[in-house]
Amino acid sequence: MVAAMDSGFSQDQIALRDRARAFARDVAGPRAAAIDRDAQYPWDIVEALKEAGFLGMTMPGILGGQDRSFLDTVLVIEEMAKCCTVTARIVVETNMGAISTVMRYGSETQKELAARLVLEGDKPAICITEPEAGSDAMAMTTRADKRGDVYVINGKKHWITGAGVSRMHLIFARVFDEHGEDLGIGAFLAIRGEGKGLRIGKREETMGLRGMPEGEIIFEDLEVPANMAVLPPSGLRRGFADLMNAYNSQRVGAGTVAMGIAAGALDHALDWTKTREQFGRPIGEFQGVQWMLADMQVQLTAARLMLHAAARSRGLDNSAFPDPMLAAQAKIFASESAVRIVNDALQIFGARGYSRELPLERMVRDVRMFTIGGGTAQVLRTLVASRMLGWKLPQTRDGHMPKPPMRDAAE
Ligand SMILES: Cc1cc2nc3c(=O)[nH]c(=O)nc-3n(C[C@H](O)[C@H](O)[C@H](O)COP(=O)(O)OP(=O)(O)OC[C@H]3O[C@@H](n4cnc5c(N)ncnc54)[C@H](O)[C@@H]3O)c2cc1C
Repeated sequence: MVAAMDSGFSQDQIALRDRARAFARDVAGPRAAAIDRDAQYPWDIVEALKEAGFLGMTMPGILGGQDRSFLDTVLVIEEMAKCCTVTARIVVETNMGAISTVMRYGSETQKELAARLVLEGDKPAICITEPEAGSDAMAMTTRADKRGDVYVINGKKHWITGAGVSRMHLIFARVFDEHGEDLGIGAFLAIRGEGKGLRIGKREETMGLRGMPEGEIIFEDLEVPANMAVLPPSGLRRGFADLMNAYNSQRVGAGTVAMGIAAGALDHALDWTKTREQFGRPIGEFQGVQWMLADMQVQLTAARLMLHAAARSRGLDNSAFPDPMLAAQAKIFASESAVRIVNDALQIFGARGYSRELPLERMVRDVRMFTIGGGTAQVLRTLVASRMLGWKLPQTRDGHMPKPPMRDAAE
């Protein structure tokens, strides 16, 4: 195994990382092939993560969390991803993303509810993407209509991680007041299994990450109490940008999963180059293979450093979340490098790499997702360029975000 750099880490962080490494090696790793084969969400691993204290680490101590930083969490995620990608994603989503949004912008009631669920083992779902609103998330048509003390939500989301296993759902919807005025996009907390109106639709047949369900979620007159609207201080008009700010932590988390898979694949490949012999010599003695290893290591180190820098950073408004520019760059570089590294690791195993008896083919399938989910590598480049130029770069032809058609008030 190539030693990771320890510089800049506290004793506590090194101890945390070592604990995660042992968990990944002894508990998660041995389950990874079966989780992939059976395509079942690993409740046993969730229970073990809970026991080991890897859920809700970033939540405040007063709510049962550990007040840990995103960097602490990133150290854990890399170790998990080396051995089992689904386990790593559970750690991401119980420490970053929807839970971070609620911890930052939620009311005390919402925070207590979310913290309790996560500590019980729930992986919150974040519901943004719709069939006609992917990269163009602002085009979402799921709507929340205010009616007295409740919001009534109707619409359909797809590719929602955790569909059918998550209890807590952070639902993004276009909000309308009682007069039908469009107030902008807001987020709502809903708990699956409490009341009617939240239905799980088709599960996707995914190429990788098969233990983590991805699927449709349909809202049919789902009633959410008004006090479950998650409102950033800027209100609804600017609220979507604030709510999405929380996604910067998720991006760092997702990039770290990709980087961790790459680190694990490189470890396997390096061992193999020392033992596999052809032409009477270990294949690691061939310069063609040495340069592949070196290129893999260079990309891995650069990705790790970018992710750590992003995890340590704070946004321009000194918000609780990583800087968007650093988070986007780290996710682009880590995800694209990881796809190359894992692919090259498989190549180094020759035909054996193509066999399902080794984990390389699973790692290739798993890593492929990370240039897509959580903002594609292309859309994140637009974010980076927009910051560089200091211009807004609306992607619609007329330079404006279209508003969805108003619904007839009498409907
Ligand atoms: C495994 C997985 C898990 C996911 N989990 C969740 C989840 O939990 N919650 C959730 O809400 N969503 C989730 N998603 C959805 C994900 O966020 C979207 O897939 C992503 O935002 C892209 O949307 P799309 O798939 O509709 O692609 P599209 O937006 O249709 O894009 C298609 C292609 O066009 C490119 N493109 C689009 N617009 C531009 C542009 N302006 N400039 C340049 N290129 C562009 C894209 O980069 C892409 O290559 C998940 C997706 C995956 C694969």
